[in-house]
Amino acid sequence: MRAVFLDRDGVVNRDGPGFVTHPDGLHLLPRVAEAIARIGELGFAAVLVTNQSGVGRGIMTADDLERVHARMIEGLAAAGGELSLILSCTHAPWDGCDCRKPAPGMLHQARDRLRVDLTSSYLVGDKPTDIECGAAVGCTTILVLSGLDPVYDHSRFVRQPDAVATDLWAAVEWIATREAKVGTTSPVATEAQR
Ligand SMILES: [Mg+2]
Ligand SMILES: [Zn+2]
Repeated sequence: MRAVFLDRDGVVNRDGPGFVTHPDGLHLLPRVAEAIARIGELGFAAVLVTNQSGVGRGIMTADDLERVHARMIEGLAAAGGELSLILSCTHAPWDGCDCRKPAPGMLHQARDRLRVDLTSSYLVGDKPTDIECGAAVGCTTILVLSGLDPVYDHSRFVRQPDAVATDLWAAVEWIATREAKVGTTSPVATEAQR
């Protein structure tokens, strides 16, 4: 299985100051449901990997997060977008867990649960920590500018993204084009292309 890992805030929904603690605070960005449907059509599992330390900080409960995600799933399904797996790191930064991005723990969990081949998978995120996380396990990384940072400032990145796109739809377009160039979806051919 190959995956397109998606960060949540700033990629799927509008990022803002503070945490999304209630479903009514969740606003899907334009064309994200269509983009996620396209990920499925391309033969990838769409896997959400999100840091939600609001839970570990005591700002929201795990149930609050569940309700926010239920609303998100509903919104995405309206346009045929389906997530194969949602992984959330709910730890606080000071917990020292191995799943809070940039640590790659959630990508390892996805690998184990869905038998994902990480080096032929993609990661789409809006922050340096997302790119660092994907690059650490050999994913092809795409920075989107639909978050709070509308420009790509390479000096802020520990690892540079493989591509930069305006939003998730454009990122998936880039993936589709790259896959077409490879000419086959086999992991071997993808590796050879690099
Ligand atoms: Mg984000
Ligand atoms: Zn964690």
